[in-house]
Amino acid sequence: MNLIVEKAYAKVNLGLDVLSRREDGYHEVKMIMQQIDLFDEIEISTGFIEGGITIESSDKSLPENSDNLCYKAAELIREMCDVKIGLHIKIDKHIPVAAGMAGGSTDAAAVLRGINRLFMLELSDDELRKMAEKLGADVPFCVSGGCMLSEGIGEILSPVKGLSEVPMLVAKPQIGVSTKWVYENLDLSKVTHPDIDGQLEALKKGDINTVCKLMGNVLESVTEEEYDVIRQIKGIMKEEGALGAMMSGSGPTVFGIFENLEQLKGAYNKMKESALAKDVIMTKPYNGRPDME
Ligand code: ATP
Repeated sequence: MNLIVEKAYAKVNLGLDVLSRREDGYHEVKMIMQQIDLFDEIEISTGFIEGGITIESSDKSLPENSDNLCYKAAELIREMCDVKIGLHIKIDKHIPVAAGMAGGSTDAAAVLRGINRLFMLELSDDELRKMAEKLGADVPFCVSGGCMLSEGIGEILSPVKGLSEVPMLVAKPQIGVSTKWVYENLDLSKVTHPDIDGQLEALKKGDINTVCKLMGNVLESVTEEEYDVIRQIKGIMKEEGALGAMMSGSGPTVFGIFENLEQLKGAYNKMKESALAKDVIMTKPYNGRPDME
């Protein structure tokens, strides 16, 4: 039996703008995706005979059948590369689910990378990203990870200089938010568009204060209007000295960036005390896979 383990990193959006709604219902976005040092572990093992795909997840709220994004990713790459051997995929879940942190997308991307390595298929990152487009808008980014500007419907990716090792806090309240619902309730005539270009400039210069000052997410007002807990969580982070605090993706996860570890720990304790968030995690940015360096 052969076995491989891939780390699947979560992301936050440092900036998220929606430019327009296309005829086909998709949205044109312009966003800065930053991976963080919080990951699921995806173990892929093979049998010796032809067979199907089986899924096992440490989080039993996730489907363990063909609805799991890991299954869909494995099915796709097997079909495209004519791999017939049976696969068992074990998901050790640490990223909160339905949180706006691309949990399912990053697991799927890890499956593509893992199977590519396991069977020595020698697909380039470009080829894997093309394949990933079929699985969801965030999956191509998750194939390569780090920090990227994402445009189009998420498939046009440009690597950018990521955040340095700043302390970050992630807090996810006990609600699940459907990305579809958020987009349906987004009124583009009313939003204030964030200055993504300014934020990219600031990232390039390593100017954390300006990166934080320019943090903006057009989806935040939609989710926040429905769930006040998001505003409350941001309030605690800011009171505890966050340089910036904002919802990630379509939410409900909020992340904060702090100047030092002392402030981070203070905010962590206050957040725990408040009981506003189910998951409270201290982390930092993650800027690349070791095997890519
Ligand atoms: P995004 O930021 O890309 O919008 P998210 O973090 O909001 O994603 P996910 O954690 O990917 O959301 O979960 C969305 C849905 O996908 C859940 O309802 C979950 O049941 C389903 N799902 C399928 N496979 C997975 C997986 N491997 N990990 C997490 N969720 C999965």
